[in-house]
Amino acid sequence: MDRSANMRAIRSKGMRPELAVRSLVHKMGYRYRLHKKDLPGKPDLVFASRRKVIFVHGCFWHSHYGCSAAHVPKSNQDYWGPKLRRNQSRDRRNIKNLGLAGWSSLIIWECETKDTTSLEKRVKRFLGRKPNVEVR
Ligand SMILES: [Zn+2]
Repeated sequence: MDRSANMRAIRSKGMRPELAVRSLVHKMGYRYRLHKKDLPGKPDLVFASRRKVIFVHGCFWHSHYGCSAAHVPKSNQDYWGPKLRRNQSRDRRNIKNLGLAGWSSLIIWECETKDTTSLEKRVKRFLGRKPNVEVR
């Protein structure tokens, strides 16, 4: 596989964890907006009234520390090393800028999306009380 085909494959695989988080959070009763472009890093889920955001990070692209999915590929190290480091520092900068603007961020790693029970606990702890759900 050439490099760009490989990147496309990784990227499209990376979409699923985000969808899993979205549907879980939605089922829990929280409402959010997606990818608000005026916020640093275009967070995946935005809870505007709570001033909170959630990022769902692919372990490879965002270099999940200590995660088996986050190794730098052995081939093309000169390419991947700097590229992944750039992603990391961009992530740090985004979280910092969000914080300065009064937003709290939660990062959910791709490998953490499989354990729905603990994920639900973390989301609840981060977002706090659910809004009153309308009864119909
Ligand atoms: Zn991971």
